[in-house]
Formats: sequence, C-alpha cells, structure tokens
Amino acid sequence: EAKGRGKAQSVSYEPAIGRASIERLELVEELRRAIDEEELAVVYQPVVATESGLITGVEALVRWRLNGTDVPTDVFVRIAEDTGLVVGLGELVLRRVSGDARALRDAAGGPISISVNVSARQLRDPRFVGVVQTAVRDMDRTGLVLEITERQEIGDDPEVLHVMRVIAAMGVRFAIDDFGVGFSSISYLHELPAHVVKTDATLSAGIDHDERARAVLHAIAVMGDALGLDVVVEGVERETQLEAIREEVGAPFVQGYLLHRPMPLEALLPVVRDNRHPDARPKVEELPAP
Ligand code: C2E
Ligand code: MG
Ligand code: MG
Ligand code: MG
Repeated sequence: EAKGRGKAQSVSYEPAIGRASIERLELVEELRRAIDEEELAVVYQPVVATESGLITGVEALVRWRLNGTDVPTDVFVRIAEDTGLVVGLGELVLRRVSGDARALRDAAGGPISISVNVSARQLRDPRFVGVVQTAVRDMDRTGLVLEITERQEIGDDPEVLHVMRVIAAMGVRFAIDDFGVGFSSISYLHELPAHVVKTDATLSAGIDHDERARAVLHAIAVMGDALGLDVVVEGVERETQLEAIREEVGAPFVQGYLLHRPMPLEALLPVVRDNRHPDARPKVEELPAP
C-alpha cells in the first residue's frame, strides 16, 4: 500500500518541479552560504513608553541583502524555518546582539531591553539553551527578551515549555509576539513563562477610525495588565493611532514606523542617547539667541 502511494506521488510531483522550486533551492543555498559567511545584518527598532515617548528597549530584526536587493525578512525567515537553517541564523543574531549590547547600554545610560525573535524550531534545538547562555554571558541577562510567535503552537509542546522555563530561570524574559492572530490563545497565556505580549500589527490598522478595533486592543491591554504582562502595541504608523492608544487603548508600550524605523546600530546609538534625558534638553526659550 505504502509502495503504491509512493509511486503515485512521484508521478504527480515530477512535473511540478518547475522554475519556482529551482529558484527556491538556489535561494536556500544562497541563504546557507550567507549564514556561514555571516553576511546577514541585524537592525534595531526602538520600543517606546506610550506616555513619555522614552525608548525602553529595542527589537533586533535580521536583514539579508542579496545581489543588491533586500530579501523580505518574513520570506527568508520562513525558508530558514522550513530548512532548519534558522538554527544557525538564530545563533548569528544572538551573537551579534550580545556584541552590540554594551554599546547600547552605554548610549542609554542604564538598562535597556533587547528583544530577539526566535522560532519554535530554535527552541527545539538541543543546543539552544547553551547558545542563550553564551549570549548573556557578556550582557545584562534581564535585558534580553526572546520573542516567540504562537503560529507554531508552542504552548502545547511540553518540551518547548521546559526549555522556556530553563531559560526564564536564567533571568531571560519571553514575549509572545503577534498576539491576537493565528494560534495565540488566551486560555494558557498565564501558564507560559512570558513577561511581554506584543499585539499583531494588523490589530492596530483601524484603531484610529474604528471603535470596535480599539475595543479589541483595549481588551488585550486590560488582560495583559491583569496578568502582569507588559503590552506592546505594534504597527503604529500614524499620529491618530498613537492618540487612540493614549486615550482609549491604554497599552503601556508602542512600536512602529511613526516612532522609529528599524535601523543599524550606528544610527540607533545617537537616537538612544538623545532620547534619554528629555528634561535635560534645553527648552526653546532657553536656547541662546543666534
Ligand atoms: P515581528 O517580530 O512581528 O517584527 C515586526 C515587523 O514589523 C518587522 O518586520 C518590522 O520591520 C515591521 N514593522 C515595524 N514597524 C511597523 C509599522 O509601523 N508598520 C508595519 N506595517 N510594520 C512595521 P520585518 O523586519 O520584516 O520582520 C518580519 C518578521 O520576521 C518578524 O515579525 C519576525 O517574526 C521575523 N524575524 C525578524 N527577525 C528575525 C530573527 O532574527 N529571527 C527569527 N526567527 N525571526 C525573525
Ligand atoms: Mg518580533
Ligand atoms: Mg510582531
Ligand atoms: Mg512575528
């Protein structure tokens, strides 16, 4: 029976190996090489306190430039997840972040969190705990936040939960990313060793003109507060969205193009430095006359 199925499969799949799958195979090989040769870059997008606008942390986002063009991150991360390359990709990102942490902390003049996205595949890799341990050796471990997306149903996997608890015991925090879409489930949110909830950017899209969209985000903000979780609203692109968050949603942290775009470390450091003492900056009337 199994033999018969296998034959039927090869007959039906053969004609399907066309240009697209060959291109994808080439992309996989290019990605493998880029990871080996450490050609991937990491950029950082600030997360700010909703009321004060002060930068409280940054999210590390991986970038890949191939033949002069940026490959969209969600495209190559998905390929990396499917092929297992995400393990090496994740190690590279954690190494880079760990190396940048000191300069960032100095610029901030104190603790600042750095979030790193990790895939379920990485959490299932037996080396992962060691990789995190190495990454936090040279940095403030409570400053590291690992963002996990629920599209992979992590909460159902006892092995993954165990790894999360081991890492959390090291002082590293977890964020549930893209909350409110996909598999994210309220029912076991309180069982995960998570400190942060980041709402999916699509939930912010209509909040400046749709009362019901605001109500959904407000409900998440209230729930997060009740569970002692820091809620970050992602995808804030317009001033009117930020106003809606301040006035009605009530989430303590925001992230989005309106506040800051993702940027390389060299660009981030002066932004963080200038942002840290709002009261120390002279008011306009105190500036010397030209
Ligand atoms: P994410 O973790 O939800 O990251 C937020 C995404 O939203 C980023 O896309 C960011 O550039 C984008 N973004 C920021 N502000 C705005 C805004 O105002 N509006 C809109 N529409 N988008 C905004 P990016 O950098 O393309 O990354 C896509 C996804 O790829 C990430 O989603 C994350 O799931 C994954 N990813 C990124 N870096 C890594 C990594 O190092 N490792 C792994 N495993 N996954 C990563
Ligand atoms: Mg994220
Ligand atoms: Mg997200
Ligand atoms: Mg995501």
